[in-house]
Amino acid sequence: MGVNVRHSLLSALALSFPLTRAASSVNATAACQSISATGTEVLTLADALNPQWTDAQSHYWSAANADLQPACAVYPTSALAVSQIVSILQNNTGVPFAVKSGGHNPNVGYSSVEGGVLISMSNLSSTVLSEDTTTADIGPGARWVQVAEALDGTGVTVVSGRLGDVGVGGLTLGGGLSFLSAEYGLVCDNVINYEVVLANASIVNANASSNSDLYWALKGGGNQFGIVTKFTMKTHPIGQIWGGIRSYAATEAEALLNATENFNENYDKDPKAAVIVTGEIAIDSLLEIFVVFFFYDGPTAPAGIFDEFNAIPFLTDGTETRSYYDLINSDDGTNLYGLRYLIRATTLPNLPNATGKALYNYHYNEWRNYVMTEGILHPGFIFSLAFQPMPYIIPAESVAAGGNALGMNPAEGDRMWMEYDISWLTALGDDDAHAMSMNITATIDEYAKTVYAGIKNTHFEAGNLEEEEYNPIFMNDAMYDQMPLQSYENDGYIKLKAIQQSVDPTGFFPSRTGGFKFT
Ligand SMILES: Cc1cc2nc3c(=O)[nH]c(=O)nc-3n(C[C@H](O)[C@H](O)[C@H](O)COP(=O)(O)OP(=O)(O)OC[C@H]3O[C@@H](n4cnc5c(N)ncnc54)[C@H](O)[C@@H]3O)c2cc1C
Repeated sequence: MGVNVRHSLLSALALSFPLTRAASSVNATAACQSISATGTEVLTLADALNPQWTDAQSHYWSAANADLQPACAVYPTSALAVSQIVSILQNNTGVPFAVKSGGHNPNVGYSSVEGGVLISMSNLSSTVLSEDTTTADIGPGARWVQVAEALDGTGVTVVSGRLGDVGVGGLTLGGGLSFLSAEYGLVCDNVINYEVVLANASIVNANASSNSDLYWALKGGGNQFGIVTKFTMKTHPIGQIWGGIRSYAATEAEALLNATENFNENYDKDPKAAVIVTGEIAIDSLLEIFVVFFFYDGPTAPAGIFDEFNAIPFLTDGTETRSYYDLINSDDGTNLYGLRYLIRATTLPNLPNATGKALYNYHYNEWRNYVMTEGILHPGFIFSLAFQPMPYIIPAESVAAGGNALGMNPAEGDRMWMEYDISWLTALGDDDAHAMSMNITATIDEYAKTVYAGIKNTHFEAGNLEEEEYNPIFMNDAMYDQMPLQSYENDGYIKLKAIQQSVDPTGFFPSRTGGFKFT
């Protein structure tokens, strides 16, 4: 068991992003004072009873982020205020900072900061629908539930996160997978304009005709390019939808994973559908279940796409006809605060029929065996692995929308975006959680490449079988030691790196704030 309180998460962070705590403290205080002088609200630990301070400093999905103590939290209300903050940070050498939207990214130091300036976007959280209802201006500090609520009853919605509590800022900059992605692409594919403050404090718009390189880079390229102060998103018609959560006994694992492979392989027949299939094991109770999120963009799911799932007996059934807002809001029931979390990502090929089913079942059983032998030694830990279909029709929508930084080619066929979560109670478990997370994902790529060598994933037409099927690493589910940017296809990484250097030649973002880095 690890025993260091300032644990491996922080030391790993320090490797990629040096925390110049001693050097920055005087400058950080000066920066906080200068920001206050511009009229932007600034709070410090002295305001510990102020709920706005608590919200910024300690309301994170992973409680590990609340271990970090910023010199101050600042609450800009406009792009101009963000620009003033960037100027002041530029004038105060070495002061680290973090931009916080929904605070759902578990990687310590990404939207949290020790001894620096925490920029809370919570006062930039409005959703404004255009008069013709074709677009919506969305503040980066909004949570998706606020967006869905604001658009509820208008007949349109945006391609959004699937759990309401997650923030708009981080999810969209990491690409964003939605229940509506098979119909309309990733969340970022639906952004038509980014209003963004660059490292030189200028406020620019990035869209298809203005700053188009930056526009492309922000579509999945992460937080090293600037601070986004407004997303303008395309809207899409929405009426009553069908969806909710069913839970299953773990004895249904094989049937569920077989259905998941089949669903992905046949996804192009009905892009209005979506599932997330998650196996969970809680060590204390040894409760083993499957939880499946179902979604259909229509009041009822027609016969066909969910047939195989529907034949599997469930324990509980929360699916119903409801509004999109109601679904996004209710999904938050699965969102537990107060724990520490890590998430790790891999991408697997969706191999055809029996081979695909065998691969998913092998992987689940390996995961389960590991949890039941190694994980079981860790009281209070909860493990999950989620299968998130990534059919070729999603990259096809991305390409149709002008392409994004992830660079996935629809000709490379169907894949599965895997997400592995571990949660635990105290910092004493941090090292073990990290080690187990790495062990769980250590061998699956090699296994699949060896055992299923040469077998093409479903809907594969062209590409490098051994590379693209296993990439990209989905940034939104990636752990701090993974390298999602480097996994982007079609030389995406090289292009992204050049754009980052052109908009931030002095390396302001790479040197001062956390996030996935260029190497
Ligand atoms: C319960 C849960 C459900 C999830 N569901 C989904 C899902 O359905 N689809 C999906 O794609 N992902 C999902 N994710 C992953 C999620 O998208 C990422 O963790 C994402 O980074 C969280 O965004 P946030 O704004 O809440 O996080 P934050 O922690 O606030 O921010 C994450 C990163 O983005 C940066 N950032 C935030 N706002 C800005 C801005 N305005 N300008 C520049 N940088 C900014 C931060 O500095 C930080 O590096 C989920 C995660 C959790 C924990």
